[in-house]
Amino acid sequence: MGPARVAVVRCETYEQAAVDDAVARALALLGGAGRFVRPGERIVLKPNLLVASGPDKAVTTHPAVFSAVARALAAEDAVLTWGDSPGFGSTGGVGRRAGIAQAAAALGVAEADFARGREVSFPDGALVKRFTIAEGVLAADGLVSLPKLKTHALTRMTGAVKNQFGCVPGMLKGEFHTRMPDVERFCTMLVDLNRLLAPRLTVMDAIVAMEGNGPRGGDPRHVGVLLVSDDPVAVDALGCRVMALDPDLVGTVTEGERLGLGRAHDIEVVGDEPPVIADFVANRSRASTTGGGIGNALGRRLLAPRPFIIAGRCTRCGTCVSVCPVEPKAVDWPDGDRARVPEHDYDACIRCYCCQEMCPERAIEVKTPPLGRLIRR
Ligand code: SF4
Ligand code: SF4
Repeated sequence: MGPARVAVVRCETYEQAAVDDAVARALALLGGAGRFVRPGERIVLKPNLLVASGPDKAVTTHPAVFSAVARALAAEDAVLTWGDSPGFGSTGGVGRRAGIAQAAAALGVAEADFARGREVSFPDGALVKRFTIAEGVLAADGLVSLPKLKTHALTRMTGAVKNQFGCVPGMLKGEFHTRMPDVERFCTMLVDLNRLLAPRLTVMDAIVAMEGNGPRGGDPRHVGVLLVSDDPVAVDALGCRVMALDPDLVGTVTEGERLGLGRAHDIEVVGDEPPVIADFVANRSRASTTGGGIGNALGRRLLAPRPFIIAGRCTRCGTCVSVCPVEPKAVDWPDGDRARVPEHDYDACIRCYCCQEMCPERAIEVKTPPLGRLIRR
């Protein structure tokens, strides 16, 4: 097996003609769109539609990238659909807010069913042998992944490998958090999912990425590049390089390489030189949901980074309570009073950071307790 080949193409703007040119150039550098799809094949496009958010917020894949890839694959006579299972909200509703639904409608690309799923056996899974996969993915011959480059509290960065988590419908995603509360096993599960789904092609939108309190509450950061490859691990490893983040700190990359999903250290870059943004705001410490391997409740309570609500920003919307996968909830209304700011129960909290991920007001941040900070020094 030779090195992974990743096309890096500068693109400074979301102006459609510029993005069309950049996608066409990236695909040409990789041998053409016809290397990835054949005429008549049903291909599902999977953008990142985490939650309802406008394209300017950098939470979701930009519709200009979606349109450019859809046009390129349609020119090969592929039959396209699109979809994602958002963390909160419906595919159609989130897709409209992100501008993806309108872009798809303009190109005659139908919405796939990501609400219902079917269980699929995966005997080769290193950790997970059965997944429930969205009907819209199972109905397709192949998947093309359109991730957004963003920071992430649990996995440090979210990009190509993590994007496929949206092929698991609805609340079933939360079950994986409770079944695999430690980040290492969670990343192994994500890699198994990618080995099952085997995305044909990844086109990462890093024209404007997200830094800081991602993947929803961070800040847009102009990067000006597309990363394109058939190897999702290599795309994520290069995405880390752009963020000046060590890829060996990112479980989806290290597990992806260990389990043969792709290559993180043997990458041939074609096209432009990837930028390295030294001051990109990201957490560069090793992720730990257990308190650094101590592996007991006391270690987790004293050492593991925890979600923290900034009361002044909280609008009492209740999203954090709704998305918490733990029962009884690890973040809830104090005494059932919805007029007050929700409170965390750090003994029950598994540190999945779904509450931080979904808070629409940027009111939840992840902070390491004082003892954890001391030990890490
Ligand atoms: S999701 Fe955010 S704004 Fe909404 S109740 Fe929770 S902390 Fe407050
Ligand atoms: S409180 Fe937040 S971090 Fe803790 S288990 Fe619930 S959603 Fe996950």
